[in-house]
Amino acid sequence: MSDKAQGASPRRIGLLGGTFDPVHIGHLRSALEVADMLALSELRLVPNARPPHRDRPQVSPEQRLAMVQQAVQGVATLQVDGRELLRERPSYTIETLEAVRAELATGDQLFLLVGWDAFCGLPGWHRWEELLWHCHIIVLQRPDADSEPPDALRNLLAARAVSAPSGLEGPAGSIAFVWQTPLAVSATQIRQLLASGKSVRYLVPDAVLAYIEAHGLYRAPN
Ligand code: ATP
Repeated sequence: MSDKAQGASPRRIGLLGGTFDPVHIGHLRSALEVADMLALSELRLVPNARPPHRDRPQVSPEQRLAMVQQAVQGVATLQVDGRELLRERPSYTIETLEAVRAELATGDQLFLLVGWDAFCGLPGWHRWEELLWHCHIIVLQRPDADSEPPDALRNLLAARAVSAPSGLEGPAGSIAFVWQTPLAVSATQIRQLLASGKSVRYLVPDAVLAYIEAHGLYRAPN
């Protein structure tokens, strides 16, 4: 009998998109902390496709995906969802949400994790007003940030924001904020270190470091 038929308790699934070029400890710590805080059944890292000309010549989408897979190996809560890389063109978030939602049981809860900056740009997203049909939105905010939301989001926040993630009920439809101090690491910094021949040990998991070295990724062309 399926979970749906048995009436098993709903699953709580989080989605964190990113280019992960490459994935690093900032992404991974943040993902794990949010998964713990929200008591997620699983948090899926979703590498974004980019227009072919925007991918670095020596680093393919498959290699970005492989690095994320290496990074979460053996960590049950963190999973990888490569569906956006398997499409012919970059996916809109709404399409990914529709596809994931179609695979879940009716009562399962879906949480889309976005940084504050991305959240402020929400009104520019394709079919953005449909996002909350499929998921809750978790806005990751720095404790020291005091940004004002854009006017276009004021009504949405007034109608949909709950005061704490524990107030998110049902499969979708609300917005909550999570305050988190990010580790001072970025993929840009890692690419720059590698391009100048320096080590990125301890900024990425050892398995990712081994992959980067084995494939000679992000090195400056000779
Ligand atoms: P780049 O330096 O290439 O812009 P990035 O390190 O910011 O990359 P992305 O793949 O663009 O990484 O980020 C994916 C998601 O992870 C985004 O929501 C981003 O805000 C978040 N993120 C990036 N760096 C950190 C960090 N150090 N701590 C927590 N979250 C992070």
